[in-house]
Amino acid sequence: MDKGLLIVLSGPSGVGKGTVCAALRKRLPNLVYSVSATTRKPRAGEVDGVNYFFKSHDEFKHMIEHNELLEWAQYVSNFYGTPRTFVEETLASGKDVILEIEVQGAMKVKQQFDEGIFIFLMPPSLDELRSRIVGRGTEALDQVNQRMLTAVDEIKLLDQYDYAVVNDQVELACDRIISILQAEHCRKERIMPKIQQWIDEVSK
Ligand code: 5GP
Repeated sequence: MDKGLLIVLSGPSGVGKGTVCAALRKRLPNLVYSVSATTRKPRAGEVDGVNYFFKSHDEFKHMIEHNELLEWAQYVSNFYGTPRTFVEETLASGKDVILEIEVQGAMKVKQQFDEGIFIFLMPPSLDELRSRIVGRGTEALDQVNQRMLTAVDEIKLLDQYDYAVVNDQVELACDRIISILQAEHCRKERIMPKIQQWIDEVSK
């Protein structure tokens, strides 16, 4: 069976990765979402095991030491990481997996899965990014400024990605990502093993 595609959706905080990812999952029900582990406290309405696996610092450290995380990163003052086994097993079963993670983690995934599809979600402008972070209302002012500084550093990494998708409107951003995934599924490298089988069968 073909392995699934590993899709890494990344970009600066506040660009709308969570919203775009949720809308994408509605439109692509077979796309499997990797739930991250974090030491951040749950926000109102967030559910353990659905939005994140909420962990203590000791639990997170244990996961790192036992190589249970495919990647992990410190972001502002919290740790975030992708549970390894779930991703590997889901890909092996032929299903596509999406990671919605920040850029340091995305770069660590790239070192291990160069065949992954790395999509950078862009804000339409920096002003728009700031107003989205402020508008979310979950961050104190110093944290907003910290996130803006981080965002500028993150945008510098665009060159490492395969695709840049502007999140001007959520559904339009989803349309673009769906087109990317359709094209990636049509890559000749994915079709080649099957064609080789056909060739072998006919030339027997
Ligand atoms: P938030 O605290 O707003 O939920 O997430 C903060 C940042 O951490 C976001 O950019 C989010 O995409 C990123 N993030 C969430 N899960 C992971 C993960 O497993 N690994 C990494 N590296 N970043 C993550």
